[in-house]
Amino acid sequence: MNEEVETSLLVIVLDTNPAQRLLRERTHNLTQCLESVIAFANSHLMLKSANRLAMLACHSRSTEFLFPPPPAAFGTQAAMLRQVDGQYELFTHVEKTIRQSLQQLLMRDTKSEPVGSACESLLAGALAMALCYIHRLEQDLSSGRNMNSRILVVTGSADSASQYMSYMNVFFTAQKQNVTLDVCSMEQDMSLLQQGCDITGGLYLRIPQLQGLLQYLLWVFLPEPPIRKKLVLPPPVKVDYRAACFCHRELIDIGFVCSVCLSIFCKFSPICTTCHTVFRSPGPLPIKPKKRKIKLN
Ligand SMILES: [Zn+2]
Ligand SMILES: [Zn+2]
Repeated sequence: MNEEVETSLLVIVLDTNPAQRLLRERTHNLTQCLESVIAFANSHLMLKSANRLAMLACHSRSTEFLFPPPPAAFGTQAAMLRQVDGQYELFTHVEKTIRQSLQQLLMRDTKSEPVGSACESLLAGALAMALCYIHRLEQDLSSGRNMNSRILVVTGSADSASQYMSYMNVFFTAQKQNVTLDVCSMEQDMSLLQQGCDITGGLYLRIPQLQGLLQYLLWVFLPEPPIRKKLVLPPPVKVDYRAACFCHRELIDIGFVCSVCLSIFCKFSPICTTCHTVFRSPGPLPIKPKKRKIKLN
């Protein structure tokens, strides 16, 4: 058989920021989320033996790989992983590694910062890390092998316009690299990530309740993008394509655009804060020439 070996790489970005409302109100929700995501990840590996998986935890101060674990942590952890009788070794390995890595991340987090200091999740950074990882694996790919890569974000936070630029850079890089971005929002509508899904041809879904998380993941996000056209999936959302102004990081409908660097501002400013170009003030210029013309005639 001369068939091309097709690998499908799934990178899951799980938002573990303790500042999310879901986790603040009930910490057990994180366990539930994690269990659903692990079951989903294993289902992906089960579909094809060539399938690959990576998982990142997006926290308030940092983003870390849960699976595969970073090389430094691997030596200490590998010895502790023991297979459970009757379970496929890879599933045990995935589950235990993810749980251990997350546990270590949370322990370090509670030690380093006082509980209650709320920061937003660094989703744009996590997406950039996922893209770098995908890029590295694609470089290592032997010839005759083909890899379809996608990223799935599972989050309960809101996307904030303060990361607008990073989001846009990530979305267009993903589009260029043929990486599909899927988003499963557990709580809030995320207009920026919706744009990302739309740009890269992925799916955006806001689930109505956390209880059904695994079911939604398996139904909507398990099939690979080319197969999805043949399935009956939730109708696509109407994407809010507003941009964030660079001065206040707020979403605006109409604004001023710098003609040199394309930065967006909600109010006129004589100097572009991004590229420092100086503009002439848009005073009563358009009216004056008209008056002169009238006098001349
Ligand atoms: Zn502004
Ligand atoms: Zn500019």
